[in-house]
Amino acid sequence: MNKLLALIAMVLMFSCTSQLEYKVPVYAWLSGPKDATDIELQKQFSDFKEKGIDGLMYSAGHNPETYKRVGKIAKEAGLEFHTWVPTMLQGENPKLKQELYAVNGLGESSLDKPPYVGYYKFLCPNYEGVYDFLAEMYGEIAAIPEVDGIHLDYIRFPDVILAPGLWDKYDLVMDREYPQFDYCYCDKCVSDFKAQTGIDIKEVEDPSQVEEWKQFRYDLITNMVNRLTEMVHSKGKVINAAVFPGPNSVAKKIVRQEWDNWDLDAFYPMNYNDFYLEGPAWVGEVCKEAVSALGNGKPVYSGLFICPNPEKKSGEADPENHGLVPEELEEAIRVSMENGAAGICLFTPGRMTDAHWEVFEKAIRVDYSKD
Ligand SMILES: [Zn+2]
Repeated sequence: MNKLLALIAMVLMFSCTSQLEYKVPVYAWLSGPKDATDIELQKQFSDFKEKGIDGLMYSAGHNPETYKRVGKIAKEAGLEFHTWVPTMLQGENPKLKQELYAVNGLGESSLDKPPYVGYYKFLCPNYEGVYDFLAEMYGEIAAIPEVDGIHLDYIRFPDVILAPGLWDKYDLVMDREYPQFDYCYCDKCVSDFKAQTGIDIKEVEDPSQVEEWKQFRYDLITNMVNRLTEMVHSKGKVINAAVFPGPNSVAKKIVRQEWDNWDLDAFYPMNYNDFYLEGPAWVGEVCKEAVSALGNGKPVYSGLFICPNPEKKSGEADPENHGLVPEELEEAIRVSMENGAAGICLFTPGRMTDAHWEVFEKAIRVDYSKD
């Protein structure tokens, strides 16, 4: 009898541990460190690790020394450390000349007249000087031993169409491509395109109908990504990016990211359903699209936008304050994993309420590959 009990206990223990062993891989976008001390960072990072986060996409500006300091603490806490630094979005910088910024269909530079919001200053991906600037900036960061990977963001043109959830906020109806939001019509892009195709895009009444013009711009971004990938790989580090959902359903159409042609090591689509006026089930659909478009087994981490004040969501006009409420988080995680995601990425841990963490703790312990 004792033996039987012992056997039952062993079986129970084994099934419990094997269940506990499985965990959905989880990353998180995080900004810092501002004034945080090393001890405060240690505390924050161990707390994340305990909650089930495996790696950070950490944003702290351009200074490699900051990443060295924060990366060391993250690694000691057992976290992967990727540096999250915007790519084409660059504010004024003595290293960047005026002519390196993208120009819209009205001939306005995004440096002088940024679209939508004051910080929307985008570089033109067609300049060698832009590649040189980015390669130097990311290269210095990638050379730091504490950095595991480079995480690109804003690796795109400005939104030629805004996600529908943002139309009210900016008082726009974006039923088609409008020239003031359409980039890049700088002299170099216009003349290179003409040399390549014979088409003078400035003479075309509706450039959105010219397939070659779209492809030309997809390729400019793709080439930039693939050159940066080669550079980062040469330093023995991985490179990945935050991308728009799709690529076909959203990313290509609204920000000209043909990211299924990018040589990155992993993809973090921002599957922020509320911006597209969709529910959590849609997150699964775009995960499925991403995995099948890539078709190469590269990992896709499903980016989830968390609602910081769930009880106020319905009365919130600004979609930046929308996102997944705790009741939706389990579904978003489940449908991501059931549709081929390799894991998830939270935007952001700081927006998670206690109720979110409670749902999260259970949802990340389920092996969704099993029936
Ligand atoms: Zn250009």
